[in-house]
Amino acid sequence: MEEATFRGSCLCGQVRFAARGAAILFQYCHCSRCRKRSGSAHCANLMFKVEHFAWEAGEALTKRFELPAAERFCSGFCTVCGSAVPWVTRNAKYVIVPAGALDESPDIFPERNVHFDSRAQWYRAASDLPQFAEEASR
Ligand SMILES: [Zn+2]
Ligand SMILES: [Zn+2]
Repeated sequence: MEEATFRGSCLCGQVRFAARGAAILFQYCHCSRCRKRSGSAHCANLMFKVEHFAWEAGEALTKRFELPAAERFCSGFCTVCGSAVPWVTRNAKYVIVPAGALDESPDIFPERNVHFDSRAQWYRAASDLPQFAEEASR
């Protein structure tokens, strides 16, 4: 059986990457740091073994940020367009891939919410809100 490949890129397209094999996890994180990082209610991240990950273009355009006050928190972004891009965990064992950076839908789905007690007070599950196929006017 062919191994799954997870390809992704940033918004400006200059950073490209691929992860192969099985994702170790796929989860939403609702912690306050991930809210700041993502600018959204939660992040949606996959995790892979570091040896299953490769940059295909633009690695030099990426930057990582290690929050000094945190033991593990880290993030990665494209210095041109600011998009979230993968980053290697601080223990150098794993790569975290922001699911929104993927170019094709993976055949797996998020399996859990973590730091759910820290979720934004205004958080509402997307499926609980009215749905419009495209942009909606007020
Ligand atoms: Zn970019
Ligand atoms: Zn988080």
